[in-house]
Amino acid sequence: MSPSDSTLTANPVEAAFRALLARVAEARPRERLDLLERAFEFSWRHHADQRRRSGEAFIMHPLAVATILHEMRMDVVCIAAGLLHDAVEDTPATHEEIRAAFGPVVAHLVAGVTKIDRLDFSSQGARQAENVRKMLLAMVDDIRVILIKLADRLHNMRTLRHLPPDRQRAVALETMEIYAPLAHRLGMGKMRGELEDLAFSFLEPDAYEQVRRAVEGRRKVSEEFLAQVRERVERVMAEHEIRCRVEGRVKRFYSIWQKLQRQAIEIEQVYDLLALRIITGSVRDCYAALGVIHNTWHPVPGRIKDFIAIPRPNGYQSLHTSVIHESGQPFEAQIRTEEMHRTAEEGIAAHWKYKDGQLAPESEDERLAWVRRLVEWQREMRDPAEFLATLKVDLHPEEVFAFTPKGQIIRLPRDATAVDFAYAIHTEVGNRCVGAKVNGRIAPLRYRVQSGDIVEILTQAGHAPSRDWLAFVKTSRARHKIKHWINLNERRRAVEIGRRALERDARRHDIALKPYKEADWVRAGQEYGFLRSEDLYAAIGYGKLSARQVLARLVPPEQRAALAGPPRATPRRAAPSGAAILVRGFSDLMVYRARCCNPVHGEAIVGYITRGRGVAVHAEQCANVQNLIYQSDRRIDVGWAPRAESPQPVKLAIFTDDRAGMLNSITAVISESGANIRNIAANTGSGQATIDVVLEVRDLQHLQAIQAGLKKIAGVHDVQRLYKL
Ligand code: MN
Repeated sequence: MSPSDSTLTANPVEAAFRALLARVAEARPRERLDLLERAFEFSWRHHADQRRRSGEAFIMHPLAVATILHEMRMDVVCIAAGLLHDAVEDTPATHEEIRAAFGPVVAHLVAGVTKIDRLDFSSQGARQAENVRKMLLAMVDDIRVILIKLADRLHNMRTLRHLPPDRQRAVALETMEIYAPLAHRLGMGKMRGELEDLAFSFLEPDAYEQVRRAVEGRRKVSEEFLAQVRERVERVMAEHEIRCRVEGRVKRFYSIWQKLQRQAIEIEQVYDLLALRIITGSVRDCYAALGVIHNTWHPVPGRIKDFIAIPRPNGYQSLHTSVIHESGQPFEAQIRTEEMHRTAEEGIAAHWKYKDGQLAPESEDERLAWVRRLVEWQREMRDPAEFLATLKVDLHPEEVFAFTPKGQIIRLPRDATAVDFAYAIHTEVGNRCVGAKVNGRIAPLRYRVQSGDIVEILTQAGHAPSRDWLAFVKTSRARHKIKHWINLNERRRAVEIGRRALERDARRHDIALKPYKEADWVRAGQEYGFLRSEDLYAAIGYGKLSARQVLARLVPPEQRAALAGPPRATPRRAAPSGAAILVRGFSDLMVYRARCCNPVHGEAIVGYITRGRGVAVHAEQCANVQNLIYQSDRRIDVGWAPRAESPQPVKLAIFTDDRAGMLNSITAVISESGANIRNIAANTGSGQATIDVVLEVRDLQHLQAIQAGLKKIAGVHDVQRLYKL
């Protein structure tokens, strides 16, 4: 039997195979065990010289895969294919040889697994979409290919610790993203659970250890608790003549971790950490058992789920309820029939039963239903990538998977927006995005991306990110990139403002800047601790230094006197609208009144350096300032010029009784004060009136006098300043 030595009955390989054979023989007495013997012999001969990374003979791997397939209650054809699954990929054996030796079905299964093995799962970006499509095709062709692949992956995960760390990570990630969700889709709860826990232990070893320790620490208590509850359940069920068996289970580590993460709770608060499975003989008994459970313990509201009436898409059926034990410990009860239980554990494998090498007739419908469902899934998706998204969406609700128009998968945290999506593609796409098309329709930038969305980002050359985006972006990548851009730009702007301030002040004091070279500026900057001249300009732009101060350091001592004196009179120009506002340390900077509050002369104000538009001046009372929308690092000291300026528009809301002559009284008070009325509008109703008036005032004093005058009018209850015109 051994390829090289027939005396090795004590050989561990031989022993392992004999053990498998005995188990198969017991479970499937009428099947062709010679097929397994020949497959094993063939596989062993071909893998004879190979070792796994762990050092053990390679043949132990196909043997383990075959054993897992047997445990999944697969037929001998499938188990034989499991023994041979790596023969074509890793040995000189050919498809034709396998076909000749084991027949077309085994050969077809091995070819399917080989095909999947040859897919490149490692490419990032357009990640896996195409591959999953191929897998799907293989799946629809013969689902056993996928089952063998899952068994293969399960054994590889069980032995993953022997691989180098980077491979561990890659394989674990692929398992988490592709194989565990696939097992889930196929309803294979046990397979999915083990794959997830194994992958979890490699992907997040610290978290895994944390959960493991927490569960282990409670194991004794949990087991005692479950045993006690189980006994009680068995008793009350017997009293109500409900025949059932009861199993206790502790939730899997990865599901616990997900729940802790998602709900930010402690392990004690996980309702279904401990669960009891009550397996009955009929659907009617399931509902009866639910009633009994609720009579025995207090149910947690909102935690009753009827997956019998509405099965999960993967066919899972069960009643779930969470109840509170007398001790205060919550636990979950899952109530289902034997058949539902088997489906939950084994999924599609439970429907893939053979009798005497033939598909069992009663399984046929189920099997076809499965395949039909898979085909439907595939058809419903315009893009194979969408299939991947739906595979993942059940499992990873904290993430969304959306697609570029070219089918590239973009993975984002839940609630991520179109802007996050844009930055996930490329920084430049993010910086220039002006809008998005989601599934062909225009959507706002703050649109929350949903799994399966096809998102096209609309960009415009020269467009810049907005600080407003920071209020809604979800990914740290987008946040970081936006902040980076804004900082860079504000600095650029500050440098420019600084330069202009220097030039202007120099001109005013008749200082020629031409003779000064870069080295002179660097020297002047060094006195303030700056290494580069740009830093010096920026400091002026940010208002940390005044231009005059800096000029004094730059020029030779004899010229400093010029700076001390008053500025040379500049030719009078048409004053820009903001000329009445001074920015400390500057003169004639681009300054404008913020339109959100339109401050009037004399009012308390603050300035903010804006991107490319100079300094915006807000009233201190402005809602935007109060709400800290603006960052303090952009804040700059501003003050009013001593001289009054041209009148400024202000809007007032006057609350009055609705009586004849009210408008006249109001306009009279305003005209007497010398203010111009630009616009007046009255709203009346139920004896009251609101009169909105836009008038032009010289300064705050002027405004306050008018407000006081208006309040004195009989029937006027209140006068309010509306900051936005
Ligand atoms: Mn393998």
